Amino acid sequence: MIIDVHRHMWSVQERYPSDFADLTGQELSPPPRLDWRRTTREMIDEMDGAGVDVAVLIVADFASRLGEPPFSIEEENRFIAEARDLYPERIIAFYGIDPRRPGAADGFQKAIKELKVSGLKLHPAAGYFPHDRACYPLYELCDAHGLTVLFHSGPAGFHPKLDGRFSHPLEFDQVATDFPHLGIIMGHAGGEWWEDCVSIARKHPNMFLELAEWQVDLRDRPERALPAIDAMLKTLGRERIVWGSDLPGLRAVMSLREYVELFRDLPILGKGHGLAFDDSDVDAMLGGNAARILRL
Ligand SMILES: [Zn+2]
Repeated sequence: MIIDVHRHMWSVQERYPSDFADLTGQELSPPPRLDWRRTTREMIDEMDGAGVDVAVLIVADFASRLGEPPFSIEEENRFIAEARDLYPERIIAFYGIDPRRPGAADGFQKAIKELKVSGLKLHPAAGYFPHDRACYPLYELCDAHGLTVLFHSGPAGFHPKLDGRFSHPLEFDQVATDFPHLGIIMGHAGGEWWEDCVSIARKHPNMFLELAEWQVDLRDRPERALPAIDAMLKTLGRERIVWGSDLPGLRAVMSLREYVELFRDLPILGKGHGLAFDDSDVDAMLGGNAARILRL
């Protein structure tokens, strides 16, 4: 079973096209109308083609830094729940909100009840620390309902207005201490700060490292990525690492299918660098662990 624990309906480029036109100095053609039904069908086709069984669909709330996206945050959260209702065996919906929005916890509580969301996605690089007390009512709701939190962790280099100091792995230590039973998935495994992420996760058995975005380094800098993944496995154990794609934003880098194939090749790639990964490591990371954490 393959579970992609980090999947978006639309990339940040699709949600904020004019920002990227400014950054690249390019004239963008008017953004395509975002149609969640069509996007969902295309996503399922893409998953079928890659052998991905389940995707956790998440909403990232960047509004405080990037402005409101084309749809309100309530609408986007509803779209992913409706996508899940169309494909209940294939999609898991995680609610996304900036905890500083007025009524954030009430909105989340309502979504747990009415939209049946299975978890929470927070993106602290939008300008708040994960240990900000504004987040705590949301964690309490997760705790009370047995839901998992997926955080962006690490630098947020994909947009200059986002600030990675808020999502440094060290900032999550307090949260894991205060909520020892909360399932915490560290998106991107802290990225370039992965060693700090491992140090923190070592203290907290409820913390899991997730490998979305690692397709870039696995392809372009395997001499860095492979020893990093090896160190995560050796330090934390294979049951603490999960796999994700961060598509569609990274589709231009590598297709979903190519990332699955690259990851399946880990034992062969490792051998070339003097590292021993086996197929059971790969199976655990690709889906076995996520199935357990998400109680599938
Ligand atoms: Zn993402």
